[in-house]
Amino acid sequence: MPVPAEPLRPLPVPARLIARETIGSFLTRLAFANSLRIPHLLALAAITTDQRSFTPATDDTRGWTEPTPGRIAALAGRPLPELATAIPLLATMTPADTAPLRACGHCTAAKNVTGMVILRARARDYLCARHEQWLRGIHRPSLAALPEITDSQRRHDRRTANVPDQDITRAHQQARDITGQWLASGWHPALTERWQDRHRRLAAMLPGPEAVLADVITHPEMLSVAHLLISSHRSPGIRQREIAARLGFPYPSRPHPLDPLHNHLSQQPGPTQEATWPSTFPASSATRTSPPAW
Ligand SMILES: [Zn+2]
Repeated sequence: MPVPAEPLRPLPVPARLIARETIGSFLTRLAFANSLRIPHLLALAAITTDQRSFTPATDDTRGWTEPTPGRIAALAGRPLPELATAIPLLATMTPADTAPLRACGHCTAAKNVTGMVILRARARDYLCARHEQWLRGIHRPSLAALPEITDSQRRHDRRTANVPDQDITRAHQQARDITGQWLASGWHPALTERWQDRHRRLAAMLPGPEAVLADVITHPEMLSVAHLLISSHRSPGIRQREIAARLGFPYPSRPHPLDPLHNHLSQQPGPTQEATWPSTFPASSATRTSPPAW
């Protein structure tokens, strides 16, 4: 496709900037605001991507040509550095390694932006605390009936404000694996009961797929486990009493050797060893095990 002749004028209707938006979402909004078809806008931006593979979730530079970033900035009527503060791809110019996430509709509406906005999700993005809205996946239940979910996220964000994103990502992956095993096999009766209670409250509001509900109902404990994993890396030798306090249930003082949390913690270096986490943090070691026979 020939690159259109420079220079470009800004399109008549600008699109507002929304932090961490994907480039696909931004270009789609810009096209719609100006009644342009997507292929037309892509051509103006000198993007040769197959238009069928372009969606609002697109967040890479496939099909871009050298003048593309400058042309997007010109069409948007904003300097490139200003656009790059909102659109991570323009700041890094590398493919996204984070999952796309549909922004909270109440938050975007508050900025007078109608229609769908896609963001790059950070590891800690699961919900909108302000609007008590779950944001992961297609089914996005309201969390109004489960205030402890939003509270746990706020607490976790406060406690881990200084933890690097990649450490959060790893800890969350492992914690999800652990709580997933606890849920699937009913390892801890007190937790199972708590999760069943949440499931009842949530399902009353939104009958949805079990997988989605499972992530929601186990969320506070997933965050607690993640925080335990992060702290035990920083000061190894965590006590069972502390685990019980953080999780709010009587975690056994002598846990079953196959308990997934016990397993993860016992793989961490002892106090006298050099702490090498996260480089030795096993990647989502999904050792599916049977629960003890109690
Ligand atoms: Zn919101």
